[in-house]
Formats: sequence, structure tokens, C-alpha cells
Amino acid sequence: MGKVIKQGIIYTLSIALAITIMVFVNFADRYELTPKKVYKVYLDGKAVGNIKNKQELEDYINQEQTELKLKYGVDKVYVPSGVDIKKCTTYEKKVLSAEEVHNIITEEKPFTLKGYKITINPSEETSTSEKDKSTDNGEKKKIVINVLDKDMFDKAVKSVVKAFVSLEDYNNFKNDTQTEIKDTGKLIEDIYIAQNITEKPAYISTDEEIFTDEKTLTKYLLFGAVKDDKYYTVQEGDTIESISYANKLATAEFLIVNPEFTSETNLLSPGQQVKVGLINPIINVIVEKHEVFDQESRYQTIQEEDPNMALGTEKVVTEGQNGTDRLTAKIKYDNGDTSNVVVVSSESIKPPVDRVVKIGTRSYSGSTTPVVVSGNWGWPTVSPYYVSSPYGYRWGRVHEGIDIAGSGSGSPIFASQAGTVVSSISHWSVGINVVINHGNGYYTTYAHLSSKLVGVGATVQKGQQIGTMGSTGRSTGTHLHFGLFIGGEPYHGGHSADPMQLFR
Ligand SMILES: [Zn+2]
Repeated sequence: MGKVIKQGIIYTLSIALAITIMVFVNFADRYELTPKKVYKVYLDGKAVGNIKNKQELEDYINQEQTELKLKYGVDKVYVPSGVDIKKCTTYEKKVLSAEEVHNIITEEKPFTLKGYKITINPSEETSTSEKDKSTDNGEKKKIVINVLDKDMFDKAVKSVVKAFVSLEDYNNFKNDTQTEIKDTGKLIEDIYIAQNITEKPAYISTDEEIFTDEKTLTKYLLFGAVKDDKYYTVQEGDTIESISYANKLATAEFLIVNPEFTSETNLLSPGQQVKVGLINPIINVIVEKHEVFDQESRYQTIQEEDPNMALGTEKVVTEGQNGTDRLTAKIKYDNGDTSNVVVVSSESIKPPVDRVVKIGTRSYSGSTTPVVVSGNWGWPTVSPYYVSSPYGYRWGRVHEGIDIAGSGSGSPIFASQAGTVVSSISHWSVGINVVINHGNGYYTTYAHLSSKLVGVGATVQKGQQIGTMGSTGRSTGTHLHFGLFIGGEPYHGGHSADPMQLFR
């Protein structure tokens, strides 16, 4: 072996030794020969480091996060979600201080607070109240609300309920002190929230929305958002009715938004601030009532043909007179709107007097059938009936007709006046729907029918049955949506008007 080779081997060995020593020294620096017990901190499964004492870290976090404690009014702040602290035995030498771990975590993820996740599950029953009908997304979604205090949530729900039920009625219902009905009156049979609400204790991340006060949560549950209130300053001459109308609210809705007023006849003073925001409640407050009330029963018009009178002439033989029915009904209210009416019984207190009209049929030219010239409009349903929703604004949209319930599914629907059927369709929104042109620019519409008896082009007489009451299309509960359009066909030049004007 040559000298050079020998030297080379020595050289190589020395290098190897040096490396070994270096590796060992480095190893000895990081690892120890005897293992020790530590806590290993993980963040989303990734090791952050070891700490000596778990409690120490939790205390440090709690002590450092004073700002969060003040903001949420709590006395404890917890580690972020995804942080896992496991006791283990390690040979690793390095142990981080509580401060170091705190600082690493702070960079990565927000801390958490102990609270509740409240889930409001959509209700099948009330996902389509009629006020949502003109929108395609009337369906409600599952909503999760974070709170720190469960009682605060319960109180906020109670505040929402009180937007729809007066405090007095609510207390009488709760304490079983409602006044019994003697002649007419109302009894609350049940008050409940349509949605299934579940609550689960949880550590809530501070980057999520957390409700900490009852007022803000009530506002969210009622208005569907925590936006600033929309106010209006009362001017000279304003009434609750005029302000409501100008802001596309029904007066009943104005009273929901402004609970300090008890009636639409309450006086306002100039300069006073009132709320005019639209509500879009997250929850549906259902109130079921037993009601006994008197209802006008409308007279029928009976036409008698008289060959001694000239064609086109008419003569009133007996003036009609409306009677009175006393109705007992179960009425369901969904966030203040009537959603279902079942008439349990009705008794006639005063029977109506039929109006009898003689119609001339004498004709010199021969052929034609008598033309009905009677100016009176006929009620489109049989009695007993109940107008469950008037014409006008409902939370920012016009309800272009009146809802008439009470006579039940399959009960007859009559043409309100003679005319020609211009539309007879089945549609996802209005359901089975008939439109009649009465001439002089007047059109009436009959929606949500369960069946129709007339087609386009048919000539109908006043009081002729054109279909049966139903709940087709986007409808809650069996009812007739009866509309009046003037000046042209509905949505083709005609504008809607209150059909009640036909019966005054
Ligand atoms: Zn309607």
C-alpha cells in the first residue's frame, strides 16, 4: 500500500469521525438520553411544540386575551378549534414556553369562547306563506346562530313572539286567564315556533358572528339582518296609515315594527321618529285561535225572465238585504298573517233577503238571449266566508287581491259579474286560475282553484259557477285569491284595485 493511499484513508476517517461527532453533538443538543413527560401541542394535526404544563398555557392565553374578554363580556378565552394538547413522553430536549406557543397559535387561528350553537331547522309547514309567493326562493334555509348565553336566546325569541301577540294576550294565554267567549270573541289555543330549534354547547371561534345581547338578536330574528333601523320623521298631517302606505307596509305591520303604538288611530306628533323597515323573520311565530265572530251573509240576486218587458230592461222587484251569520272558526296566524281558516260551524242570526230582478225578454228582432245589465257584483264564494287577507301592502309588496277562505275545498266559485273568460290556466304560482273580462275595462281573477269549469272564450253569467275553491299553486291553506284589474288585462295594461270596492 502506498503512502499516499494510507494518508488518504486516515484523512477520510478523520472526516467521518468529525461528521459523527458533529451529528452526535447536534443530536445531543436536541435530544436527551432520558425521556421526560411533556404536553405536545397540535394545531389541525400538525405539531406546534412541547410545553411543560397544559394549565400554564391555558392560563397564559386567558391572561393575554383581555381584549376578547372585554369585547364579549366573558371571563375566559379558550384555545382555537383544532388545537389538541396531548400528554406524551419525549426524548426531545426543547420545550416551548407558554408565551411562545401562544404567539404561534395567535398567528394561525382565532381563539374560542364557550357558548352554544343554536340551529334553526326550516319548517316544511310554513316555508311558503303567500307573501313569499312572488319570489322563487321563498324556501327558508337552515340557520345557525352563535350565542354565549342560552337564556338570552330564549328571551330574544320571546321578544319576537311579542311582536305578533300583545303582552296582555300572551300573559293571559300563559296564565290560563283568558276571558271565555260569551257571544263573540277570540281565544288563543296555542302559540309556538314553526321551526325545530336545537341547541348544542360549543367552543365558538371569535371570527364568527356571536350574538351577545338580546336586542341585536331580536332584531336579527325579526328583520333577518342586523342592519341599521330605517326611520322616518313624522311630518305635520301624517297618520300611521299614510306613513305605512308610503313605505309599503300594512298598518298592522307598522304596529309590529313600532310596538309602542297600540292602534292605527294612535296620534303622531311632528318630529317624532318611527321605524319603517321591512321585516323578514327568521322564525315563524304561529298563533292558533278559536274565534267566534259575526259575518255579513250576502244576498243573492235572482233573475226572473219577463216576456212582457222589453229585452235589455230590468226591474227590481225586491231589494236585496244582507243578513248576518255567526261563525265559529279555527284560525291559524303565521307571523301575523292568516295562514289557514277552518270554519267549524255557522248559524244564521239574520237571514239575507234575496234581491229579485225581472229581466225583459221581449224582442222584436227575434233571437238574442237576455243581456244581464244588473250593476251589482256578486260575491264569488258561498257563505260562510272569511276574508283572511285584504288587498294592499304586505311587507313591501302589494297583495293584488283579497283572500277569501271559510267555505272549504271544493266549494263553488262564482263569476262576480257577466263576462267572457279570457284566461283559464294552471300555473306554478296562481295555480288553477280563471280571468274574466267584464267589459268597460273591468277584469276579475280567481286563483288557487281546485278545478275550473270554464275555458277561454266562454261567456259566463253573473253568479255562474266557474270552478271550485282549492289550494293549487303557491298557496297556504284552502282559499280563493280574488283579484280586480281595471283598464286592461292583468299584467297587460290593467292595474290592480281593491275588489272590496265592488261590494260597497
Ligand atoms: Zn292572495
